[in-house]
Amino acid sequence: MKVYAFKQADLEKWVKSWTSTHKVYRAATQKSETCGAHAGWTEMTDGTMPPCGPAKSSVKTFYFPQPETMATFSAKKEDPDGLLMENQETPEEKQIVFGVRPCDGRSVELNNLPYVDDPFYQANRERTILVGFSCTEQKATCFCTQTGGSPYGTEGLDVALSQVGDVFLAEIITDKAAELVDNGDGLTEASESEIAELTSLRQAVEENPGHDESLKAKEMTALHGAPFWDKVAESCLNCGACTFLCPTCYCFDIQDEVVRGQGKRIRYWDSCMFPLYTLHTTGHNPRGKKVQRVRNRFMHKLKYFPDRFGPFSCVGCGRCIQECPVNIDIREVMVDLLAVK
Ligand code: SF4
Ligand code: SF4
Repeated sequence: MKVYAFKQADLEKWVKSWTSTHKVYRAATQKSETCGAHAGWTEMTDGTMPPCGPAKSSVKTFYFPQPETMATFSAKKEDPDGLLMENQETPEEKQIVFGVRPCDGRSVELNNLPYVDDPFYQANRERTILVGFSCTEQKATCFCTQTGGSPYGTEGLDVALSQVGDVFLAEIITDKAAELVDNGDGLTEASESEIAELTSLRQAVEENPGHDESLKAKEMTALHGAPFWDKVAESCLNCGACTFLCPTCYCFDIQDEVVRGQGKRIRYWDSCMFPLYTLHTTGHNPRGKKVQRVRNRFMHKLKYFPDRFGPFSCVGCGRCIQECPVNIDIREVMVDLLAVK
């Protein structure tokens, strides 16, 4: 892996050079900046960047946008080919997402586990370059290390930027990202001492992961039947904010929409917190009670997904904690689950 060093002033020039070949996005710092297609993000037309922290909206919008047209069809009565569906071409326009935090980068890898055969997700992955930024400070709601991540993590990223003293280092992780370096005025290969400094910052985190794997080994039925679920669910409003903001929530609903005889099959984000999500056409609802839906959200992230794929389906970004109107905190649920015998 190549590692380059550069000064802050060179970063703006480097980013500007990408805008001639790619759409480049960064986290919006205020609501008025947010761009239509990707709420919470804004397009960069030059290299100028205000100080911006972790994005309020997750990076999943670039891989799993909503709405996303999957197929088109004609619904005109007189059309001999009426209702024949044609699969939607997957998009090709190249895009760069700049300043992605390691937790969000990791979420792309985790979502890839269930979406490995999804042509839209894979096409969006192929055309997207993630330029990450290590976190030198954590918010009170960040807990990436407890779920297997790191503020210096590089999983899912194509380029990882880190500040080491007064220089920035750029680790070029994928071949896809190597093309960005060609236009990198001011980039020089990082020295051994600069790389060693970054390695020691990374190791310091890895030595104290705060990561408790024992939850994964607990009996599913014991966790499912634990007595505290009613208490957790009591205050939940089933608003779904937690699931829409969560980078690792990936459920969707499919709807057919027809306008003047032209139909589109579209997928939209859905949420397991909504009663309609599991409502059968018979009227039966296997998760008709709020406590069942709240339990499902946490069990999916902390037990069902790890049982199937290995890691927790949570990257510890803290968005659900920050935005929950009734202060439900997944970290407290983890503690309760760990206490189950
Ligand atoms: S954000 Fe909070 S209140 Fe809303 S569905 Fe999620 S846990 Fe419930
Ligand atoms: S469950 Fe909460 S903390 Fe975990 S990834 Fe989703 S939004 Fe972030």
